Amino acid sequence: MTPDRVFAVPLLDRWLIHAPLHSVTALVNRAAVDGLAHGSSPLIAELGESVETEPCPRTGPLNPRFLGLVPTRTCNLSCVYCGFGATPGGRQMDPRLAAAAIDWMADLAARDARRTLDVHFFGGEPLAAPDVVDVAVHRTRARAAEKGLCPHLEVATNGVCSASQAAFVGDYFDVVVLSFDGMAPVQDRHRPVAPDRGSFDQVTRTARILSRSPAGLCLRICVADDNVAELPQFVDWLCSELRPSTIDFETLQPTPESERAGLRPPDPYLFTAQLLRAWHVATRYGVEPVYAAAALDRQRLSFCPVGEDTLILTPDGRVSACYLLEREWQARGLDLNLGRFEPDGTLVLDQAAMERIRRLPAEKPRCLTCFCRWSCAGGCHVNHSYPGCSRRYDDYCIQTRLISACSLLAGMEQEPFVEALLADRTALQRLAAWPDDRIGNARAGA
Ligand code: SF4
Ligand code: SF4
Repeated sequence: MTPDRVFAVPLLDRWLIHAPLHSVTALVNRAAVDGLAHGSSPLIAELGESVETEPCPRTGPLNPRFLGLVPTRTCNLSCVYCGFGATPGGRQMDPRLAAAAIDWMADLAARDARRTLDVHFFGGEPLAAPDVVDVAVHRTRARAAEKGLCPHLEVATNGVCSASQAAFVGDYFDVVVLSFDGMAPVQDRHRPVAPDRGSFDQVTRTARILSRSPAGLCLRICVADDNVAELPQFVDWLCSELRPSTIDFETLQPTPESERAGLRPPDPYLFTAQLLRAWHVATRYGVEPVYAAAALDRQRLSFCPVGEDTLILTPDGRVSACYLLEREWQARGLDLNLGRFEPDGTLVLDQAAMERIRRLPAEKPRCLTCFCRWSCAGGCHVNHSYPGCSRRYDDYCIQTRLISACSLLAGMEQEPFVEALLADRTALQRLAAWPDDRIGNARAGA
């Protein structure tokens, strides 16, 4: 047993032992924790050697999981928390560039004997550049067919599009991530088309079209202080009216725009409680609830595609590791540029940048002692654990630690214990603030 890889956090009068690399999770008493910390517990034999190796930065040649396309930075909505803003008439990607990049990705996928050709679309709003999307979708399918690959297309959209566009997306995409924040008063306040025009009706129509389509529908809810209270009821409505396969819960990332609109992230303790209620509702309908930072089914070094060689192509031909605007990384002291695609489809890769970005997810001092280090993996590199960020747990850490612990307990069928924990604010605060989860600290931190 390697003590740095075995974690123990206090929960009421018990301790949660979490050793993800050993595939062991247990709820034990104080004596068992002491025994483990001192190497005298029978649990030691159970832990044995790690069954998994610690996730490490990638090495070797460039090997992107998918190609990301940003057909345009333009958006047709004016969401009150979004830094992109409504920017009609912005630059669109040359469809020939999109096609050339897809050819490059198809060659790579075939050379590596992959089964799929994966292309994901981000924005702005990708469907605001319908010609680019149309060309890219058909090119992906054609190249995949040529090379014996299965095309896999995903798009993140705001759902404000025509009925025929929605039908096209439902027919041709495998996964559609649709942002949907609440019933009309919330959705129209968070995500207006214009100051006097909401988006609820149009997004509902799109969601209904997608529900009848073969595409997997992932509904993404941005939870703020004004919609956290009604989360379970909204999820009930989504599941009874639509046919989502997953519902993804995210908390508001504060921006100057959201602050001007008077919108704040929810209290992390309230968010945890409401998320777990909404979680039960979704599960009852057979819908998978997702809180991305509590991905406990596998170990990972990076929360997202950053560090995994993913190439995000922007309309000007530049390639980066993250789909946010460059100015947003720069504000955090990050450079996530990876190179560029020439119009003929030649990738000019900055090798040194690739190596630097591969190491980025491993350089998170705050996370080294956290039991979520290989599930949360630090969260968003730009907004949450950028270089030089505070070493103290912030609200995102608090909710992630609480949700992860409750999920681990639920996995052990300890629902009554979860209920008792949620009812005890002091116990929650103790868990959330526990300074060093490594087993050796269990005594020091007590
Ligand atoms: S310290 Fe915070 S960001 Fe890091 S793994 Fe833990 S919860 Fe995630
Ligand atoms: S760094 Fe943040 S914004 Fe960029 S891809 Fe990762 S999670 Fe998304």
